Amino acid sequence: MISDIDKTLEHAQQICTQQGVRLTEKRRRVLQVVLESAEPLSAYQIADNYRDHYGKTLSVMSVYRMLNFLKDNELVHRLETTNQYLPCSHIRCQHDHEVPQFLICDNCKGVDEVGIRKEILNELSANIKDTGFTLARQQLEFRGICSACQRAGATLKLN
Ligand SMILES: [Zn+2]
Ligand SMILES: [Zn+2]
Ligand SMILES: [Zn+2]
Repeated sequence: MISDIDKTLEHAQQICTQQGVRLTEKRRRVLQVVLESAEPLSAYQIADNYRDHYGKTLSVMSVYRMLNFLKDNELVHRLETTNQYLPCSHIRCQHDHEVPQFLICDNCKGVDEVGIRKEILNELSANIKDTGFTLARQQLEFRGICSACQRAGATLKLN
C-alpha cells in the first residue's frame, strides 16, 4: 500500500518536473522528514530526524540549502516568527498557490495554512505603506488554539 506521505512525495516530484527542477534524493528525504512531523521543525531538528531516520548525517548548512530549494518551490513554508519549517498543505492540489497565512496552535503546536485573498493583502499592504513603513515580508502568522484542541477543552493561556 502506498502511504499518504509517499503519495505527497510523488506529487512533489511531479511539481519539480513541471518546474524543470530536480527533487534530488536528499531534497526528497528532507521533505519526507518535514512531512512526517506533526509540528513544524527547526533546521536542527530536521538534521537530527534525518540522521535518526536515514542513519546518515546531513549538516545543518545542507539542511538549510535543501529547505531553501523546497521553500522556493512551495513544497515547504518557513514560519518567520519561529524559524521553523512545515510542509505546504497544498502539495497535492492543482490550484495556484495563494499567499498563505498561518494559524499556529499554542497547545498542540499544529499549524493550519490558510490562503488569504489578494484584495485583503493588498489593502493591508497599502495601509502599512501609508504609515511610511517599508514592508520586507507579507507572511501573516497568528497564534491561538485550534478547533480540535478547543473541543478537547484546551483554553487560551495569555501571557
Ligand atoms: Zn502552501
Ligand atoms: Zn489546496
Ligand atoms: Zn491545537
